[in-house]
Amino acid sequence: MGYTGNVLRVDLTTGRAQVEELRRDWARKYLGGKGLGIRYLYEELTPGTDPLAPENKVILATGPFTGTIVPCSGKLGVITRSPANGAILDCSIGGNMAAAIKFAGYDLVIVEGRAAVPVFIKISDQEVSIESAEFLWGQGTHETEMQLRERLGSDFKIMSIGPAGENLVPFACITAELYRQAGRGGIGAVWGSKNLKALAVQGTGSVRVADMPKLLEVARRAMREDLLTDTNLWAYTDGTPMLVEMSNNTGILPTRNFQSGCFEGFAELKSDALKHYRKGKRACFACGLGCGNYTVTSGGRVEGPEYETLALAGSNCGIASLDAVVKFNSLCDDLGLDTISTGNVIAFAMELAQRGIKDFGLRFGDVENYLHMPELIARKQGIGAELARGVKALAEQYGGLEFAMQVKGLEFPGYEPRGSWAMGLAYATAPRGACHMSAWPVAEEAYGERDPFSIEGKAQLVIDLQHYNAAKFSLILCDFWALSFDRMAELLEPVTGEKLDAAQLERAGERIFNLARLFNLREGISGAQDTLPGRIFKQPLQGGATDGKLLPEDQFKAMLGEYYQLRGWSKEGVPLSEKLTELEL
Ligand code: SF4
Repeated sequence: MGYTGNVLRVDLTTGRAQVEELRRDWARKYLGGKGLGIRYLYEELTPGTDPLAPENKVILATGPFTGTIVPCSGKLGVITRSPANGAILDCSIGGNMAAAIKFAGYDLVIVEGRAAVPVFIKISDQEVSIESAEFLWGQGTHETEMQLRERLGSDFKIMSIGPAGENLVPFACITAELYRQAGRGGIGAVWGSKNLKALAVQGTGSVRVADMPKLLEVARRAMREDLLTDTNLWAYTDGTPMLVEMSNNTGILPTRNFQSGCFEGFAELKSDALKHYRKGKRACFACGLGCGNYTVTSGGRVEGPEYETLALAGSNCGIASLDAVVKFNSLCDDLGLDTISTGNVIAFAMELAQRGIKDFGLRFGDVENYLHMPELIARKQGIGAELARGVKALAEQYGGLEFAMQVKGLEFPGYEPRGSWAMGLAYATAPRGACHMSAWPVAEEAYGERDPFSIEGKAQLVIDLQHYNAAKFSLILCDFWALSFDRMAELLEPVTGEKLDAAQLERAGERIFNLARLFNLREGISGAQDTLPGRIFKQPLQGGATDGKLLPEDQFKAMLGEYYQLRGWSKEGVPLSEKLTELEL
């Protein structure tokens, strides 16, 4: 119960689609979503597989709660090997696609091979076909979705890539339902390498649960006690843009390629400014919070911009214009670019010019050239062909590695580690590179009560959060619902009929995190890459609440050493055999 028991495998090389039985033993140990996707990929991918080769796989993974009344369970896991850095890549995407896949009768969809010509996959319950998408190739995600909707009808949920994915940009994303993205690590380029333009799914079935009356009772209680509370009201009233002001006040708002933690133009980007242009609210399937802001300015229309976009494509590029950021966001969504990495690479190019190292014609605060970049990057035209390689590759060619804000080749999200030291550890140890979804300790440090400039207790804090998120994202619950392990367990039993207590769920999170580590080690990504750019250790922040602050390298190393030890890993960051046995890995 909870699971459909079916895995749909689509081979784009042969054009075959077949249904296999779900590995129930893995579902119990890895839950669903992120965990189950990583387990399948670890098993099926030959080490050393080129992420852009036909042999790489894309796994779309639902969870046991998907399609049920459990709140905030509408997300879909997307798992592959990243073309940005070769690491394990898991993203999640909101909207209604996950529920559509489940209602069509599948827990997982595994896509492999490479089509000879551009195609889209059409799933209508048991009917699966691979159809030509040549008429869509070169189109943006918005036009792609409109044309597919017109052809197939509005009951189909659609995900697609834009020109960035087709052109294999290593930070190309996938867009679903016009405005939602699986953003990081180049998942869109993997689709592009497979000639996969889009996925359209119609599901008319339902999900069977073990005990519906009980589920109604616990879901109602969870909504009342945990979800629809004053503490969570921010998601509806503001959404993530609320963090702009909080980050600026605490000195962790990335500004001019992380040279400062506060931005003089932050008021133009903060939530109150955005509310003037908000035309409605949006929510994913079964969400009780509805964090999405539907925004229309003369620059364009988006669901957002979310905090990460306002930070990385706003303050980090020195842009104090909401209209410009909305336009940038809208272009990136349509072209299929991750706004975090795109903002970072432009900011890095701006600093190269500021320091006289290399002039791409980009300047902090110059809106005009900034707005030309998404199109040039996505189509790899002119200087866009260079920027499309990402921050790390640019730094290796032109210099500036010290201020190339990336870990393991993945560009930084919107939280300055010199003002939140545990966030630095979280970036350094996250499996996919600099990532805020693996653990988000800023809530307790910069925004919370714990001293952000101390390493005391931070290794354990990051570990706990990494296990929590790994379990939660495997159950496919939205990160904005801060529910306890006990609550997760309470909801799980009436859905699957199996009892897993809070400790077992936490252990599953630890197992999943360790398996991601094993995947990376197998691909040659070692503990030597668990580090941060030199700027974080050596260049003090300028201005605001974090003026003069560093994360001293010796403190970072002490925190990392304690982290390895607490994890039961070697000094080199390799899980020891006792730990693997304990986790049944
Ligand atoms: S809180 Fe936002 S992201 Fe999370 S499920 Fe609801 S609408 Fe989707």
